[in-house]
Amino acid sequence: MMRIGSIINGHDYKEDHRETMAVYNPYNQDHVADIALATVEDMEEAIQYSYATFHSTMKTMPAYERADILRNAADLLAERKDEFARIISIEAGKPLIYSRGEVDRGVQVIRFAAEHAKHISGEVIPMDAAHGGENRLGFVKHVPLGVVAAITPFNFPLNLSLHKIAPAIAAGNTVVFKPAEKTPVSAHRLTMLFHEAGLPKGSLNLLMGRGEEIGSPLVKHKDVHKVTFTGSLPVGRKIREEAGFKKVTLELGSNSPNILFEDIQVERVIDDLIKGAFAFSGQVCISAQRLYVHHSIFDSFLAGYIRKTEALVIGDPLDEKTQFGPMIDEDEAKRAKQWIEDAVDKGATIKSGGKREGPLLSPTIMTNVDHNMKIIADEVFAPIVSVVPFETETEVVAMANDSRYGLQAGVFTHDINRALRVADQLEMGGVWINDISTYRQDNHPYGGVKQSGIGREGVKYAIDDMTDMKFIGVNLNDKRPRA
Ligand code: NAP
Repeated sequence: MMRIGSIINGHDYKEDHRETMAVYNPYNQDHVADIALATVEDMEEAIQYSYATFHSTMKTMPAYERADILRNAADLLAERKDEFARIISIEAGKPLIYSRGEVDRGVQVIRFAAEHAKHISGEVIPMDAAHGGENRLGFVKHVPLGVVAAITPFNFPLNLSLHKIAPAIAAGNTVVFKPAEKTPVSAHRLTMLFHEAGLPKGSLNLLMGRGEEIGSPLVKHKDVHKVTFTGSLPVGRKIREEAGFKKVTLELGSNSPNILFEDIQVERVIDDLIKGAFAFSGQVCISAQRLYVHHSIFDSFLAGYIRKTEALVIGDPLDEKTQFGPMIDEDEAKRAKQWIEDAVDKGATIKSGGKREGPLLSPTIMTNVDHNMKIIADEVFAPIVSVVPFETETEVVAMANDSRYGLQAGVFTHDINRALRVADQLEMGGVWINDISTYRQDNHPYGGVKQSGIGREGVKYAIDDMTDMKFIGVNLNDKRPRA
């Protein structure tokens, strides 16, 4: 049995005396690994190594060296694509087709960070624009912050960790990395991979532990300069309260709307919207949870959507043919099933799916829903999609905006004026026109409004938020020649 622990300054803290947590394959309950949990003292040590390595090494490491390390890491990850993809499938229950895609994206994220590492530039301020500013030079440098605490979720254990670690290194920071307890194996391999790529060992310290126990002291610690978190709204809210004066980035949940106007070709959007709603069993923050379909195409869309959804290949995530697998655990599947029952009690109809077997909840399509049901009002984070008819543009914009969340939306229409008008009105961090809400590239600004979060990722934007601006001014008024 694989036993792994925290990695602090390059050492694996996996001794037998430590409290242990078992990791199980969500699909078949195979015992995947044991993790030795970190104590609060270990956390203190991890922060101290990160702090010391920042001041001794990373702060002054030239950009070309940071870029080289990142490039090495990207190459190593590309070489080990199959190994990482299998780990993600085994620990998270994600079908291999999606795990491979996640590794490809991870490689790309590190490469973007390597490129940006060399272009963190400042600006010269026109000092003479202000009265009395003559003969003064002013410029701004972007300097690293120090220790970044990166706290990550289970659903994209590799790529969403890289969206924090790679920009932090590119900017010259050090990292204390706290991955989700359900997906620690990929985090462990990733940390070792960065060390192998040449990153000074104290620059990336991995903490294995329960979020409730070590998360809070990590977030509050005086030597942590920034907290970057991806996860749920309740935990994000707590982190925001506890972080005090630190910089905070929060990438939280959503109940993403997708709007289908009457001028689209229904058959052309169905496959994408099946992927959008059911990829990784809907456990995606921008999963297509709410589909608003113009009433004139509602029936034809729904019929095709149900037919193709029911053709999804359900099974073992490690099987090459599998398109749909389990949720992260049985408790989550029970919770989601309960939400379906709650909606049915309030008048909703199950058009397809709705059946649970252990951690597997079948792809579920609901109609006759309204905004008082949890499956619409809250983030389902499960393979449940609601299809709702609408009549007018004004009505559908109001329905889409009727949410505490605002991460990404999809708008499907061939009328460019309408598309841009609707995009402007949607209260979202991002809007895709003629694509699903679930589509994301790793180089555009990504993040939410309302309670979907604070700040933006997308490598360049994460780097911006992992530096501070330092202004340096020079008074050139002393023009007396030197003897
Ligand atoms: P979660 O339960 O909020 O956990 C996320 C991370 O926070 C885990 O590492 C967890 O550790 C840790 N944590 C738990 N309690 C903590 C505390 N009190 N202080 C500090 N850290 C704490 O989320 P999840 O279930 O893993 O992921 C699902 C959520 O993530 C969904 O809401 C989804 O929408 C969101 N998400 C958002 C984005 C985005 O980019 N906006 C992307 C992906 C996912 P443990 O695992 O040890 O509990």
